[in-house]
Amino acid sequence: MLRSTEHGPITRIHLARTFFGRALYTVRAYLVDSLLIDTGCPATARELVAWCRGREIRQVVNTHHHEDHAGGDGLLQRVLGLPVAAPSEAVPILAHSPRLQLYRRIVWGQPGDVAVEPLGDVVETDRYRLQVIPTPGHCPDHVCFFEPRQGWLFSGDLFIHERVRYLRADEDARTALESLRQVLALRPWLLICSHAGLVGDACGAIERKIAYWEGLAEEARALREKGLSLREVTDRLLGPEGLMSRITRGHFAKINLIRSLLGAAGADGA
Ligand SMILES: [Zn+2]
Repeated sequence: MLRSTEHGPITRIHLARTFFGRALYTVRAYLVDSLLIDTGCPATARELVAWCRGREIRQVVNTHHHEDHAGGDGLLQRVLGLPVAAPSEAVPILAHSPRLQLYRRIVWGQPGDVAVEPLGDVVETDRYRLQVIPTPGHCPDHVCFFEPRQGWLFSGDLFIHERVRYLRADEDARTALESLRQVLALRPWLLICSHAGLVGDACGAIERKIAYWEGLAEEARALREKGLSLREVTDRLLGPEGLMSRITRGHFAKINLIRSLLGAAGADGA
């Protein structure tokens, strides 16, 4: 499924694999002034190429290597001859795509290997100049794109939601908090998120997410000091694990967030 909506100079592209007509999990890519930011998942790559054909697109960039953000890179490169650039740490991962967990292959598809160029410090288009801001945490190679004159922050998967309660097992929430504080200092006006879409109160939204996670970390620490296990702390603060945790065999689960927020203090007792 591909659907696009115009928001002034920014085009939002909704991408999802569908199952009996229902979108499994929608991700957004963005087009701004001939620059395509992210390319959706492998399962929607053909639709994206068809959509891009006939539009004036001159370059493609990725916020990070995940398959729902870089999954169209190879086909855009091969079919339309577009130059693709990704964060330097993502380049070797994209060149040798690891085999994904089953749920990720079902929802997004398994990406093939693709050779892309490393991003520099800025990405320029005719009208805009986007700074590349390293923002690890969601994954080590994650970057945001910040356009200071417009106040735009293309935030990839750094934000997602003010009250994120599930985390992948390989995410680092404390590093993500550092990254959130770093982009907050840029005072963006518009957050352009791969999942939440366009968020007008950018600083307020980032502040609320930081406060929510910091509050959770504090409560979790206090409960651990009282002797509760990691599982008990998670159940107490976020409720029992839901369907997502079972489907993903714990790869995407609430306990991952609490463990990550606690750092070394959460290392045992699960
Ligand atoms: Zn991601």
